[in-house]
Amino acid sequence: MKVDVEDLAGRVRAGERAAVGRAITLVESTRADHRRLAGELLDRLTPHAQDARRIGITGVPGVGKSTFIDAMGTWLTARGHRVAVVAVDPSSTRSGGSILGDKTRMARLAVDENAFIRPSPTAGTLGGVARATRSAMVVLAAAGYDVILVETVGVGQSEITVAEMTDSFLLLALARTGDQLQGIKKGVLELADVIAVNKADGEHAMEAKKAARELEGALRLMGPGDSGWNAPVLTCSGLTDLGLDTVWEGLESHLKHLHSTGRFDRMRADQQVAWMWATVRDDLDSRLRSAESVQTLRAELEDAVRTGDLSPVHAADRIVAAFLNL
Ligand code: GDP
Repeated sequence: MKVDVEDLAGRVRAGERAAVGRAITLVESTRADHRRLAGELLDRLTPHAQDARRIGITGVPGVGKSTFIDAMGTWLTARGHRVAVVAVDPSSTRSGGSILGDKTRMARLAVDENAFIRPSPTAGTLGGVARATRSAMVVLAAAGYDVILVETVGVGQSEITVAEMTDSFLLLALARTGDQLQGIKKGVLELADVIAVNKADGEHAMEAKKAARELEGALRLMGPGDSGWNAPVLTCSGLTDLGLDTVWEGLESHLKHLHSTGRFDRMRADQQVAWMWATVRDDLDSRLRSAESVQTLRAELEDAVRTGDLSPVHAADRIVAAFLNL
């Protein structure tokens, strides 16, 4: 890829779709020369990328995330917003049979000229995927997308990672008779700023409302988190658009809470610093893996650790020493 960074930055800021796609491909690249260009591009774009609303969305496969994002995104563009959808899916290929951020899962939004959908980068580690997604968000904000929805799937660490790169975190849940909390991990509940019981349509409407009330009761027992915010538990349907307005209001109230308590600016600043360190770790990790000095030792040391001839700690010392030429 031959890149004129200044030209590309200009085109991104003008909102040229093809340029946005190319810029994201550049910032997702792990090649050393691309990373240098990506750094230059991000430096040019960052001053223009401040005010996009960043919302993380999670829920187990089948909860209706893509249907909901398609509906919510369309609802938002109809109200004058420009909406981008990105995904963090370190398993990189499949969750419940579908690819996160796949355009075919969001048929209306995929053809909406005020929306941009970007599937999860396939780069292996969560750190690598997170770095790429954070960078993509800067590109999208600079291109004038004022709402960025970050989709992830309900598997532990990636939710924490998404919470660390967004302002508000929306958890989609399902009503289940018997055990209403089934399938929702406590850790995820603690991350959630707004919870919506989805598929609250037709014959499920009552059941969903009841589940929401019970969940809200359970949350009140847990008490508000450090931020003093009580996550509202709402009901919605991505299929019928029911409750999209109240979910958006809940997210907006959370944003107001962040501003009124002075947390917003601090949170954004902390996120920038966390991004810096995450990039350092990711960079060191990939340099270490590809270093020739490490490559030559690797098989021998792994064998020695497997057979018990060498302790993992001792072997790790030798790898680090070889990498640093000690
Ligand atoms: P995801 O895996 O979380 O992205 O879930 P999908 O959006 O692909 O939806 C999974 C299934 O649930 C599909 O068969 C959808 O048609 C269905 N579904 C999604 N949203 C709703 C909803 O709001 N109401 C109902 N009744 N079904 C829904």
